[in-house]
Amino acid sequence: MVYGNLIDGEWRDGDPFANINPSNLDDVVGEYARASLDDTRDAIAAASRAFWGWSLTTPQTRAGYLEKIAAGIEARCGALADLLAREEGKTLREATGEVIRAAQLFRFYAGEVLRTPGERLDSAREGVEIQVTREPVGVVGLITPWNFPIAIPAWKIAPALAFGNTVVFKPAELVPGCAWELAHLIHDAGIPAGVFNLVMGRGSVVGAEITSNPQVNAISFTGSTTTGSGILTTASARLAKVQMEMGGKNPLVILNDADLPRAVQAALDGAFYSTGQRCTASSRLIVEAGIHDRFVGALTEALASQVVGDARNADTTIGPVVDERQLAQDLRYIDLGKSEGAHLAFGGEVLSRPTRGHYLSPALFTEANNQMRVCREEIFGPVATVIRAANYEEALHLANDTEFGLSAGICTSSLARSMHFRRNVQAGMVMVNLPTAGVDYTAPFGGRKGSSYGSREQGRYAVEFYTTVKTAYVVG
Ligand code: ADP
Repeated sequence: MVYGNLIDGEWRDGDPFANINPSNLDDVVGEYARASLDDTRDAIAAASRAFWGWSLTTPQTRAGYLEKIAAGIEARCGALADLLAREEGKTLREATGEVIRAAQLFRFYAGEVLRTPGERLDSAREGVEIQVTREPVGVVGLITPWNFPIAIPAWKIAPALAFGNTVVFKPAELVPGCAWELAHLIHDAGIPAGVFNLVMGRGSVVGAEITSNPQVNAISFTGSTTTGSGILTTASARLAKVQMEMGGKNPLVILNDADLPRAVQAALDGAFYSTGQRCTASSRLIVEAGIHDRFVGALTEALASQVVGDARNADTTIGPVVDERQLAQDLRYIDLGKSEGAHLAFGGEVLSRPTRGHYLSPALFTEANNQMRVCREEIFGPVATVIRAANYEEALHLANDTEFGLSAGICTSSLARSMHFRRNVQAGMVMVNLPTAGVDYTAPFGGRKGSSYGSREQGRYAVEFYTTVKTAYVVG
């Protein structure tokens, strides 16, 4: 069987491509249909035709669909988590959390749409009333990466549908499984034909068409900075609304007065869980001199006790790297770090396991400096650098000395320092005594500088992107 694309309410075949398990390259998760340019155009046209009707449904009707989708995800939680771990390579524990998150997002936006805010203002003119309301944007194109195969699609699809938009969804080619299951649940919930469309396939074909087609009114993208910049240029040139979440090189600052076990846990989780494949990963560990050696010693010990293995084994704490290309990139950066003069204090080795997979031991560089490319460029793997700072002021300066600005963390027992850091670090999200990764769906998500563009995702802030404001002047 080939899993098809969902276009105008129908499942459509296409050129099959294989979804491979990174924990076991001999395991084919399934064959999925690659959408063609014509398929993509048909999906966009269907979404465009469906928009008028869908935009006029009541919020209660749309909330009902979202509730059904949430219930569908919950009912299949175990199977979806297993599929996610199998196709992406994060551990079952992480995969389960991600699936639950997806259901929560649909429930959250089912509630949000029922309380979409508006405003009434008095006009400067006698008898005239001003009403400020929100309307859907139209057809939205959603382009997602492979590292959160169900949560990122959910945090885009749920608010898009809730606020009355129609959707053309293009998942990353590496993880069509979760995308297809989600599309299936949305279809099963009875969403009218054309309101939600799934087009799996190449970025250069499907993604490029979504970006350039004038019928797509808004594009929400999560992925690499290079791809994001290209999409931004094309889409903004035709005046489409754009929201981008891109890279990070997130600093975690550890001060002398930090609780050591807590700091080590924050670094371990933030830098290496999910195999370091998170845009919020703590890839730069900026450590004050007085705690530096103790921190490095304790983190190295913690790394030695990690179990790198098949994502679906119960004792695995770090799954495989997602694919061969990403593994090659990780290894290139590990070589680069060595040649730049950083000291590889732990890991960075390809591991063999009973099954053929992309296994890499977590790599920790010490004696790194912030000018090295391994400290400036996003690696997107289980690789972190330790940069020594003389004091808090230098640590803050180093934290901000980056072209990115997604998430930043500090481990300290000083309230004053944590407050100063919270105010002065140039990032969209700040974590105090917590890993830089791991966010709530009820709060705004996004960054500054090269990390993000456009309005925030998630929480109540999603309404900004998925609606447009109308100001009406009314006299009776
Ligand atoms: P990664 O290399 O980590 O997969 P990308 O930024 O390349 O990150 O991919 C993120 C998403 O963008 C994927 O769904 C991918 O297929 C899509 N994509 C890649 N190239 C383009 C493009 N030229 N136009 C639109 N989307 C693209």
